[in-house]
Amino acid sequence: MVQVVIIGGGFAGMAASIFLKKRGISSAIYELRDDSFTSAGNIALAPNALRVLDHADVFEKIERMGFNYENIAFTSADGSLLGHFLNGSQTKYNFAAIRIHRTIVRDALRAQVREHGIPTTYNTKCVEIVSEPAPSTKVTAVFQNGERVTADFVIGADGIHSTVRSHVAPESAAPNYSGMVGIMGYVTSGELSGVERTLELPAMLFGDTGSFAIMPSSYDGTEVGYFASIELEDRSRAEWSTLGQDKQGLRKILAERFMPPHRYPELVQALVEMTPLETLSLWPFFSAPTLDSWVSKSARVILIGDSAHAIPPTGGQGAAMALEDAETLSYALAMIYGARSVSKPEHGEDVDVNRILAQWNDHRHARVAKVLDFTSKNGKLRKSSPHLFEHIAKEWLMWAAFKWMGPEGGTQWMYEYAAEAVRSVLH
Ligand SMILES: Cc1cc2nc3c(=O)[nH]c(=O)nc-3n(C[C@H](O)[C@H](O)[C@H](O)COP(=O)(O)OP(=O)(O)OC[C@H]3O[C@@H](n4cnc5c(N)ncnc54)[C@H](O)[C@@H]3O)c2cc1C
Repeated sequence: MVQVVIIGGGFAGMAASIFLKKRGISSAIYELRDDSFTSAGNIALAPNALRVLDHADVFEKIERMGFNYENIAFTSADGSLLGHFLNGSQTKYNFAAIRIHRTIVRDALRAQVREHGIPTTYNTKCVEIVSEPAPSTKVTAVFQNGERVTADFVIGADGIHSTVRSHVAPESAAPNYSGMVGIMGYVTSGELSGVERTLELPAMLFGDTGSFAIMPSSYDGTEVGYFASIELEDRSRAEWSTLGQDKQGLRKILAERFMPPHRYPELVQALVEMTPLETLSLWPFFSAPTLDSWVSKSARVILIGDSAHAIPPTGGQGAAMALEDAETLSYALAMIYGARSVSKPEHGEDVDVNRILAQWNDHRHARVAKVLDFTSKNGKLRKSSPHLFEHIAKEWLMWAAFKWMGPEGGTQWMYEYAAEAVRSVLH
């Protein structure tokens, strides 16, 4: 019998299994999708995400597979520089930032999971979590195919539409749409030859119709990706899915926002026009409901990653929070297993378990709240500003903020974080 069952084999679930293994705790992953599933699009990983991947022995496998950069040029719609934002730094944080295909990171984590011999079952949907009757403190994950797996703990790493969340917080609301979406695509720079390149890349352009980030996504910079953040009306989950498949529709939305008569640099127009349709993907920004605790009352079911706190991408921190959760939780569970035999509840009450997981929960809540605040401030900047004065004020504010705060923009606390910090609050 494994000690921990992990529901969801995304970044959070796979990282958790690797760190648990490193601390001598056995786990098994159950994943809804097929082993061959690949997700489209690129992801930006900040220094705090890369630090966790380094601890998981994954960083060196992806470092040269994506575009390494330190600064992002923040500009107005016409490309005039407002300031440089330091998104990563070898000198300050030991890591630059990386823009990389999401699938590369997933495959590298999966390879590490396999190397550790951690069992992973695909095509298996968890439908319910059941607490075993007292005096047992064990929990059972129930799957759609009728299989039941019992363990000391269940970790819910099953993403924004989490099933496990309803066990931890039965009254929790559905995820909330933020009013914005991201549309992503990429081209190779050969296709862009002849296009005027006045912009310093990576760049984030703040226009009155939305924002447009242009970021190389291959190690040599020859693949140029973009991420347009724009406002769209809410729709049903099925309609979002249909729009995501409608690549011509996505291009039309981009063209309406970023092609003439709107005044963006030639590179933006070329990217919108030349993007191969199959590279286009859509991401509606949903937030998970706010929960008081990510640990069940029984202290045996724990949420991590997007299932606990999916946050919009406007701070580039969603994956980082999922990875940090995984590593910090491994310290908490290691302390619990080290303190007493959790698999033998007759040895006493679960005082240690409740206390230690509450300490972990408080530590992570405080950090994620701060990151959410940063993310929502960034999100406001990325929205369209149809009124001229509003737009001028926004640009002036950004310019002044860079002059005042420097390229870090007050983000050192976010990028410097290391998961070992949790150890100082666990006792
Ligand atoms: C298009 C896009 C771009 C992004 N860009 C960035 C970025 O640039 N920087 C950044 O930091 N973050 C980014 N994010 C956010 C980041 O990807 C997420 O925060 C991160 O992937 C969360 O990881 P997770 O493991 O918690 O959840 P997920 O990655 O959603 O993984 C959850 C897993 O659980 C499985 N699952 C779901 N339900 C069940 C069930 N009932 N039973 C079994 N398995 C189940 C799913 O199939 C999935 O594999 C982006 C997200 C998207 C969608």
